[in-house]
Amino acid sequence: MTAHLNQDRFPYPVARIGIIGGGQLGRMMVKAAKQLGCTCTVLDPTPNSPAGQVSGHQIVANYQDAAALRELAESCDLTTFDLEDIDSTILAELSKEGRPIFPHPQLLAVVQDKLRQKEALASAGLPVAEFRAMPEPQAELCASFGYPLVQKACRGGYDGRGVAVLRGPEDFAKHLPVPSLIERFVPAAMELAVMVARGRDGESRSYPAVEMRVCPEHNILDWLLAPARIEAATAAAAEQLAQRTVQALDGVGIFGVEMFLTSSGELLINEVAPRTHNSGHYTIEACVTDQFEQHLRAIAGLPLGATDQLCPAAMVNLLGAPGHHGRPVIKGLRAALAIPGVAVHIYGKAATRPYRKMGHVTVLDADIEQAYRKAQQVRELIEITGEDHP
Ligand code: ADP
Repeated sequence: MTAHLNQDRFPYPVARIGIIGGGQLGRMMVKAAKQLGCTCTVLDPTPNSPAGQVSGHQIVANYQDAAALRELAESCDLTTFDLEDIDSTILAELSKEGRPIFPHPQLLAVVQDKLRQKEALASAGLPVAEFRAMPEPQAELCASFGYPLVQKACRGGYDGRGVAVLRGPEDFAKHLPVPSLIERFVPAAMELAVMVARGRDGESRSYPAVEMRVCPEHNILDWLLAPARIEAATAAAAEQLAQRTVQALDGVGIFGVEMFLTSSGELLINEVAPRTHNSGHYTIEACVTDQFEQHLRAIAGLPLGATDQLCPAAMVNLLGAPGHHGRPVIKGLRAALAIPGVAVHIYGKAATRPYRKMGHVTVLDADIEQAYRKAQQVRELIEITGEDHP
């Protein structure tokens, strides 16, 4: 269907979507795809993955398996992904052969390497913190660059794995022993994120800027408020910057653009996720078109949906309790659901681990401070433990 962007007659299924990655993002994308009349095949190494459970079709293989990636792309009308750690060379090959893959594999190759991503953003004239390549850890380079600094692994990092904050020379021992970049530590007044969808025709739409609190200990999103509690002019500037960023990368699909708002009011891009993003989960309940449907509309060449937010929202992740493993046990669900405006999402992961993302909760309330308080209350109420706990 995607070869004919102007066609308006779709024999069911509207499109067969291949999704590389079977986690929670894929799961929520499959739900949106089904709503639009699409079918999905998921590629993930874990049998019965969260997304595979919902799609009903899964290729059990890892993200670097060339034959499996080919099988997926060849059996679907459109291929996309819910994570960055994929062999982008094989995707580029498939794309060259005419298989529609979005976002473009060339973009994935740039974004999946944090150094290449930063270089691409800087050379497009977009504001980023000062950085330097560090192909191997070097105490002298860190010292001459100056502390405090943040070391980031070029590849494979997510949810704070692959990020080390080195406050002074005495912290050098905590460095990551991998190819990386180092960048200035930004004393941010606030962390913001803006979701941007960009269609195959270049039209783009942004969602409201949201306020993120990232837990400094684990670098995982702690809570989120949408919209961010910032001045309208700052919010508009953040949205505009995010749109420019996705345009500069020639992105097709949905993108999460993470930023720092410094105490002097400056916006610096932290990183770009070429996919649906934790900071966009609130759109499911709070916006006219959620980020998952919007991504599918963008990659399928369908009209983008309205991004208006209908109600203020707060979101918290439900992380596996420390010390717990095995089949998840959800405590406090009944009490949480008794609070008006609470929507609970449980991801269907077979086993919990400490700090693993097991679900999330979005709270809607006309008063954002009240939404925040309810979200904190829910976080106190719900605990995800594991059956294997001694
Ligand atoms: P990940 O890809 O694992 O999410 P990020 O680059 O987003 O890694 O970093 C995780 C968190 O670390 C950020 O949300 C922020 O809180 C903190 N961080 C990252 N870079 C900087 C920086 N230059 N200065 C200060 N804090 C930073």
